Amino acid sequence: GTEETPSRPRQRVVTKGSDIPAHADTFSAMAERYQISSLLLSNLTANGYNDPTGIQSYGIPILLESRDLAAISPTGTGKTLSYLLPIMSSLRAPSSSANSDAGAGVRAVVVAPTRELAHQIHNECLKLAQGRKWRVVLFSKATAGTLADKSARDKVDIIISTPLRLVASIKSGGLELSNVRHLVLDEADRMLDAEFFPQVEEILAACSHPQIQKAVFSATLPANAEKMAMQMLKDPIRVVVGLKDT
Ligand code: ADP
Ligand code: MG
Repeated sequence: GTEETPSRPRQRVVTKGSDIPAHADTFSAMAERYQISSLLLSNLTANGYNDPTGIQSYGIPILLESRDLAAISPTGTGKTLSYLLPIMSSLRAPSSSANSDAGAGVRAVVVAPTRELAHQIHNECLKLAQGRKWRVVLFSKATAGTLADKSARDKVDIIISTPLRLVASIKSGGLELSNVRHLVLDEADRMLDAEFFPQVEEILAACSHPQIQKAVFSATLPANAEKMAMQMLKDPIRVVVGLKDT
């Protein structure tokens, strides 16, 4: 329809890059185009996600077409789902099931600057994962210990972590990330700042699979962080969402 959702501020979206996939204005259009499972789709509606936000309309198709992405969109515009839905859709089945990629170790990593943020991302992920035995791990001292065991690690689909925690486990030799196919840096303005950049470089080096997709998400991306992002991403698409009339 042509109605406007009154509760949703109108958003202005600017894209830059080569061969940018068309945006999708509804979740069902995305589901049709990219064969998103009915389970994921019904988990969206069950959680009150009826229509995609601007960054979701643009970002989800880009990520589902396996492109690298730098996404800049204000706080509260649903950046988390923009990367979690494509990750969960393209991983298809949990590692623990009889799936071709199964047993090959961690396939997606989301890194955020604080434990609190990692915790929020984990909660969002659990909403989408309802009804299926996805193994989503919020990395902590305790889970790091568990994942030092290879057979436990091979059943993990997605790790959500702070950079320091992740690097500690990579360095101690307990964590293998060479089969990671999706790497997301959330709050990328902080992740690509001097504070975390050494850790980010370690994580990038550990995620050594040649077919890795990388994405950065942030509310703002200062020039220096943007430069870092463009160095780590491959033929990236840049999406910037701004609120209209503000
Ligand atoms: P950001 O990371 O951009 O600050 P979040 O991903 O934390 O935003 O999302 C902000 C809030 O909006 C969360 O409570 C989330 O559950 C909700 N949300 C995300 N996408 C949608 C949607 N399409 N429809 C309704 N609510 C949504
Ligand atoms: Mg966020």
